[in-house]
Amino acid sequence: MGLPFPYSNFKLVDSHNRLIHKLRISLLDACNMNCLYCMPDEKEFMAKKSWVSGEELCEISSKLVVYGIDEIRLTGGEPLLRPDFRKIVNGLDKLPLSKFGLTTNGIHLERELEFLKGTSLKYLNISLDSLNKENFEKITQTDTFARVYHSIVKAHSMGFKVKVNAVLLKGINDNEEELDKFVEFAQKTGIEVRFLELMRIGVANHYFEKHFVSAGEIIERLKLKNQLKDKKMPKDSTSFNFFLSKGGEIGFIASESRPFCGHCSRLRLGADGALRPCLFIDQGVSLRGLKAEDFLKTLKQTIKLKPFDRIDTVGQAMHQIGG
Ligand code: SAM
Ligand code: SF4
Repeated sequence: MGLPFPYSNFKLVDSHNRLIHKLRISLLDACNMNCLYCMPDEKEFMAKKSWVSGEELCEISSKLVVYGIDEIRLTGGEPLLRPDFRKIVNGLDKLPLSKFGLTTNGIHLERELEFLKGTSLKYLNISLDSLNKENFEKITQTDTFARVYHSIVKAHSMGFKVKVNAVLLKGINDNEEELDKFVEFAQKTGIEVRFLELMRIGVANHYFEKHFVSAGEIIERLKLKNQLKDKKMPKDSTSFNFFLSKGGEIGFIASESRPFCGHCSRLRLGADGALRPCLFIDQGVSLRGLKAEDFLKTLKQTIKLKPFDRIDTVGQAMHQIGG
């Protein structure tokens, strides 16, 4: 593809001295799961004609790389539902990235693993909210437990850098049996399990009061049975992690009780080409078709809008923003 812009010394550093170098790209807002805390009953998906084409998406990304983006993660909705998924990965594969990843619910992951093996996309975050089949299926409202579990184990065995993401919901999947299973899974497989606090986004706003459980509470409960040793993490890591004494690692993304906004290094590109400064800001400015000068101006303006403190809540659904 070649970089369309001359090399730039300009780096994306905001007024709080945060170096912005990570990009989340939402490939589409549609999904084949209906996770209780993410997908509203009444869903409205973006018209396909509004999606940025694969080619344009790679073009926009290549421009962002010129200004210092060196990590890209594909997400959605469910990114593997995008018909031109492979074309997009092949396009982005040509960029000089230090990290290229994908966040997926795993339903269609197995069919993509051989393809992905031949690319630089090596970092797979796979959602698995429960190791109990019934609970998993209650949360995701699908009967896909075996399929998702299998794809996680297979991806790990093929050498991908796999992490499991589990959103813990009080009274649903935060009981002792669930926690024990996750710890055992992390120890046995060596796959990092990350517990996500429920965030006040979209439909989750209605679940929050009843089902929010803090990372602090889970850590206290885990410590009753396990020894947890702090792991040193990069400054802009969204998670804080612990090594388990019997092997394996667990992490926490505690956006509610321990927000990481002050060190945030991310921008978000929507499936429609709009660039957002933050997960909690539900509007962005389109990067489509911009000339070099306007592109940089838009970037600078967007970065200025990055909040330093956590914004309480956002009404837009997570699948629309791109998690
Ligand atoms: N469909 C893919 C998946 O589920 O992995 C990618 C998109 S999904 C929006 C990305 C991540 O956001 C998932 O791990 C999901 O559990 C998480 N998520 C969605 N809504 C959330 C919420 N309200 N609070 C915390 N995490 C949430
Ligand atoms: Fe789909 Fe992911 Fe949202 Fe679940 S969390 S409904 S898998 S987008």
